[in-house]
Amino acid sequence: MPDLMSRRSLIELGVAGAATILPGQASAQTTHPRAAATGDGTAYPDREKIGFAVVGLGKLALGQIIPGFHDARGVRLAALVSGHPEKARQVATKYGVPSDAIYRYDDYDRIANDPRIQVVYIVLPNSMHAEYTIRALKAGKHVLCEKPMATSIADCEKMIAAAKTADRRLMIAYRCHYEPVSLEAMRRIRSGSLGRPRLVVTDMGRQADPTEPSDAWRLDMGMSGGGALADMGVYGVSASRYLLNEEPTEVRAWAHTDRSDPRFKSTEESIAWQFRFPSGAIANGSTSFSYAATMAFRVFCDQGKMIADPGALYGGNRLVVEDTAQKEFAPHLPNTAQFTREMDWMGDVVRGKAPMVSPGEEGLQDMRLMKAILDSVAKDGATVSTDWGYRRAFDPAVVVEMPSTA
Ligand code: NDP
Repeated sequence: MPDLMSRRSLIELGVAGAATILPGQASAQTTHPRAAATGDGTAYPDREKIGFAVVGLGKLALGQIIPGFHDARGVRLAALVSGHPEKARQVATKYGVPSDAIYRYDDYDRIANDPRIQVVYIVLPNSMHAEYTIRALKAGKHVLCEKPMATSIADCEKMIAAAKTADRRLMIAYRCHYEPVSLEAMRRIRSGSLGRPRLVVTDMGRQADPTEPSDAWRLDMGMSGGGALADMGVYGVSASRYLLNEEPTEVRAWAHTDRSDPRFKSTEESIAWQFRFPSGAIANGSTSFSYAATMAFRVFCDQGKMIADPGALYGGNRLVVEDTAQKEFAPHLPNTAQFTREMDWMGDVVRGKAPMVSPGEEGLQDMRLMKAILDSVAKDGATVSTDWGYRRAFDPAVVVEMPSTA
């Protein structure tokens, strides 16, 4: 396994290498040095695993994240933070968390004295992300924060500043940066095997159910920061950027909202937007809390196309490629445990063994773009400039390895 310095050099080479791959060259699968750059796959003994505290025992934490520690190779569940002590006790018993590693929101800052916790995973309603991230950073912990990063640009900036001050790592839980279908699509685009990407279409939405507690806060502008856009649309905003590996310079957006529907008192029902990219590529995105569940993306290149439908679910995503000879095929891709993979990635970031692919700056960029979308909606589709010069530090297509199919 290369040491950190040589690993870093490889990562830098990989990023630079991506820019030199021209349309028509061989498939990305054989041209990228990512496998050498990251992911040594080390399985650590329990005592060496990075300890995580999970904050907020809701649907995602209980359904995906906490069970996901079982198969993790480098991280483990060390503590719980909850407003419901009885629920927390039951979860602790089930997953072997000691009773003295259960915290409440009011005594949360005591985690500073708990060496079992190295990373705090924030799985709270969006409006609480900033406060609990900043408190964890002040307690000297690294933070993995769920998407969307926060509910305002100012909060995202405060979170990034707090991580810098504390000299801790802040990663946004963008599971699709590490997910095989998205990675494969990115790699095929970078390889140029389908020609230049001209249009990306992302549709991410579902029917919101206000009787579900986890949807009640999502329908509230103050707690969600943007309804369907903040919850589902963010996947499309992020995907169009990582698929094209460039940043939009302009956006136009429209919304339709039936204000007589009791769900949409403070948030929009459906939004469609169009990003314009410097290469000339266009991304059309839509999100809704009132259309049938969809998490799909499509990429139209000048010599072929790709359809991922579903493309961003927890599992069962599928990519169909139509190549230059108009032959359709579905590459065989592994179905990974996405939250396990993402948490292990964070563990490797903390160890200095993996690059920070989805830092706070990525969350901030999506937040700024979502704000631009809402600004355009407010101006009935007027063009809003988004050309503020952001560039991502690492292209996931280059530095994130494809998981083994074994
Ligand atoms: P839930 O509403 O199911 O869970 C949130 C938990 O936060 C609650 O169960 C509760 O835990 C705690 N909480 C503390 N204060 C409040 C409050 N005032 N109102 C509601 N809950 C509170 O939400 P989800 O689990 O669905 O979502 C949590 C986060 O995860 C969100 O940011 C969401 O965007 C993100 N997410 C990401 C996904 C992904 O694929 N990456 C998928 C789904 C969600 P307790 O009772 O223990 O205090």
